[in-house]
Amino acid sequence: MSEHAPQVVNGRRYRWMDRPLVVICVDGCEFDYIHKAVAAGVAPFLGTMLSSGAAFEADCVVPSFTNPNNLSIVTGVSPAVHGICGNYFYDREAGAEVMMNDPRYLRVGTILASFAAAGAKVAVVTAKDKLRALLGKDLSGLCFSAEKADQAMQALAGKPLPSVYSADLSEFVFAAGVKLMESRRPDLMYLSTTDYVQHKAAPGSAAANDFYAMMDRYLARLDALGATIALTADHGMNDKFGADGKPNAIYLQDLLDDWLGQGAARVILPITDPYVVHHGALGSFATVYLPAGSDVDASIARLTGIEGVQLAATNAEACARFELPPDRLGDVIVISDKNVVLGTSRARHDLSGLDAPLRSHGGISEQTVPLLFNRRTAGIPGKPRMRNYDVFDVALNHLGAAQP
Ligand SMILES: [Zn+2]
Repeated sequence: MSEHAPQVVNGRRYRWMDRPLVVICVDGCEFDYIHKAVAAGVAPFLGTMLSSGAAFEADCVVPSFTNPNNLSIVTGVSPAVHGICGNYFYDREAGAEVMMNDPRYLRVGTILASFAAAGAKVAVVTAKDKLRALLGKDLSGLCFSAEKADQAMQALAGKPLPSVYSADLSEFVFAAGVKLMESRRPDLMYLSTTDYVQHKAAPGSAAANDFYAMMDRYLARLDALGATIALTADHGMNDKFGADGKPNAIYLQDLLDDWLGQGAARVILPITDPYVVHHGALGSFATVYLPAGSDVDASIARLTGIEGVQLAATNAEACARFELPPDRLGDVIVISDKNVVLGTSRARHDLSGLDAPLRSHGGISEQTVPLLFNRRTAGIPGKPRMRNYDVFDVALNHLGAAQP
């Protein structure tokens, strides 16, 4: 394939970038964080993107978790196609609960790898290491995480290795991105932050505004360096606690043990990952494996009747509606209300690390995310619904001239 030819990836066609493109996935970025930071006067560049660039509300993938959405963004397709539907799943073939962060679970190639193979200089910087291998699948280019940055990368970012539970982890990503743009000027760069701040701080709060002010300075620098900036999020974030400040949780395994017998059903929470301190593995999406021969409809009816359950559906129904891979989910999918989370057994959740009232994600209520560009769009087909994984399509195929 000749250099500068459009790339066709997973059935979608992408024009070659006319200037360096930086696609940013801001983890847990409810649109409200941006609006409130701009209103507070701490994020002038984001304000310019809203007024002089292009801004859309887009839908992320449900489950509104980090990995399914980052992989949708870099492949341009839904989890039904790429296969990554959580951080964690029950591998029916292996009969084991395993992390889904091994690249062998990714069923398609990425836009990043395709452009790199065609000669583009590509760089990927993620906050958490859990995403690095998936995003870097078959990629010839620079790909590293802030969490496990080596000495060379720390020198490049001009920052020491940050704690995995800190705002610094995301700042390291932006700092490295700016340094890379200044030094190596990649044609295509993908930056993915962590939602440490968003899990603790609501839009408009001091900690949230500080984070967006930090981000704003790096975005302005990338813009000054002549990059196209395309910003979206993997999911939103909502309060998930009650009036007493404690998590509003439905413990599904305890309920199903009561109904069907101890351990007869298996509840899987795809939010589960090695970094549970800030959410206690509590999110708004769960899947249930029922014992063989059990009455699926009866369980769905009982689950639907529970206060705080927004949706309980069969595997077929939920996978069709949310474009998910049926073989990697259980017999029933359960989604909770905006301010409610789902757990396994009460005893299995260590909430001792929660030092702030729980904010989390995973449900339909966290599906709306920003899609922001520092250039105006032209010729966007009148789609009734934009997705966060349209970000490469808009950035490469539908942007007009750069703003003066
Ligand atoms: Zn996330």
